[in-house]
Amino acid sequence: MVKPISNWGNYPVVEAEIHPFERLNFLLKSENSFIVRGLGRSYGDASLANHIVDGTKNRCFLDFDENSGLLTCEGGVSLEEILNTFVPKGWFLPVTPGTKFVTVGGAISSDVHGKNHHCEGSFCKHVVWMEVLLPSGKVIECSPEKNEDLFRAVCGGMGLCGIILKAKFYLKKIETAYIKQTTYKAKNIDEMLDYFEQSKNSTYTVAWMDCLSKGKSLGRGILFTGEHATIEDLLNTPYYKNPLTVKKKLKLNVPFYFPSFVLNSLTVKLFNFFVYHSHIGKTRTTIVDYDKFFYPLDSIHHWNRIYGKKGFVQYQYVLPEKNGYEGTKKIIEEIAKSKVGSFLVVFKLFGDPDKIPQKGTKKNKVLKNPLSFPEKGYTLAIDFPLDKKLPAFLERLDAIVKDCKGKLYLAKDSKMSKEFFYSTYPVEEFLKLKQKFDPYNRLLSKQAERLGLYLTQGAKK
Ligand SMILES: Cc1cc2nc3c(=O)[nH]c(=O)nc-3n(C[C@H](O)[C@H](O)[C@H](O)COP(=O)(O)OP(=O)(O)OC[C@H]3O[C@@H](n4cnc5c(N)ncnc54)[C@H](O)[C@@H]3O)c2cc1C
Repeated sequence: MVKPISNWGNYPVVEAEIHPFERLNFLLKSENSFIVRGLGRSYGDASLANHIVDGTKNRCFLDFDENSGLLTCEGGVSLEEILNTFVPKGWFLPVTPGTKFVTVGGAISSDVHGKNHHCEGSFCKHVVWMEVLLPSGKVIECSPEKNEDLFRAVCGGMGLCGIILKAKFYLKKIETAYIKQTTYKAKNIDEMLDYFEQSKNSTYTVAWMDCLSKGKSLGRGILFTGEHATIEDLLNTPYYKNPLTVKKKLKLNVPFYFPSFVLNSLTVKLFNFFVYHSHIGKTRTTIVDYDKFFYPLDSIHHWNRIYGKKGFVQYQYVLPEKNGYEGTKKIIEEIAKSKVGSFLVVFKLFGDPDKIPQKGTKKNKVLKNPLSFPEKGYTLAIDFPLDKKLPAFLERLDAIVKDCKGKLYLAKDSKMSKEFFYSTYPVEEFLKLKQKFDPYNRLLSKQAERLGLYLTQGAKK
């Protein structure tokens, strides 16, 4: 049955036939190109196509080594399932995005990053083995040492070179399910960067930024840093007795799409004012559970509906360190000037991926996954509701990003042009891998079509 489907940004909406995972082999024998979809938490069209395979039913845990923390599971297992199962045993994800409702397949295909990127890298740095189904029907094992090309093509490869059936990666040991969080209130971007510098040895760092503030307050916000709390840290708290258990909380729900007038520069300014001033004092340390620290938005079901029925885009760039400061200032000036509303603005400094060891290699080999997003520098993610003025506004932001030699994150993208994409990513390098593993473009998303991520000579089988 064909039905309309969209991902987290509710844009674009595509008419698609959804196939169960068991039909993969049947689809591979047909003429149709298709894409595998996880939990649809990419914002745009990365896991959309006219034929979609639902990857979420391929979700068994296969093995866990309690000494090393190595977990083997199927690609459709969600990060939420991993946390529910392993946090009570004293293990946590090596890297996690800002939502736990993503699959392992989605996390690898987007090579997701988290608040610890500056010291622990992106998700794929912790992956040591995968079993991948190629469009030819062959199942191939790969790792950073074995069939390295396939490993590089699949890590960050947006599902375009093979289907992740199984993966093995390290979890990390924790004493408690809690985080010792410290907040720093920064009056502008300069103070924010000073706080980042002071916190460079913290395991987790991320900032919320008020993108509508101008002048001397440009880039003001709150930096959050965190460490996994030790049992000792929980002394004198109600969590001490059950350090690995987190109380279930009531979830809020946004029951319908908000009308577009709700989100305007005034409501966003009020929201920003409230968030900024609710942090009393310059700095504060508290103990919070991991859900509150890593996944504050997951407690509100369907929060994406607040942007209205037309949907929204999330714009996330990374700018290399040397241009990052000036570029970020220009971008937030442009946003403040345009008065485009966004409640969610996340700012972070990425570490250097080349200096972060790849697990599963003997000599800390550096692997280059051509479509992986993170690189050393400044990253900012911001939501914009869709409206008539948005394309022209995004073009202005794109020009700054391009000028600063930056790039946009494919997992968030739904609007980038092919020209912009080709000028910011090593596409030729990726297409060589596509030629090797999917020469007939059997794996094809709407995003890949829009960005020219397919082989022009391989269009027909
Ligand atoms: C609230 C929110 C916060 C987020 N925060 C972050 C963040 O902090 N950092 C970050 O990096 N990302 C973040 N993201 C983005 C999200 O982590 C990625 O988009 C992730 O890839 C989504 O996984 P998914 O299972 O939903 O996959 P989908 O969105 O369904 O698909 C994403 C890609 O993975 C491919 N894929 C899925 N399963 C397989 C498989 N088995 N084999 C091969 N390919 C597969 C798809 O084809 C597609 O290209 C956030 C998203 C949301 C909604």
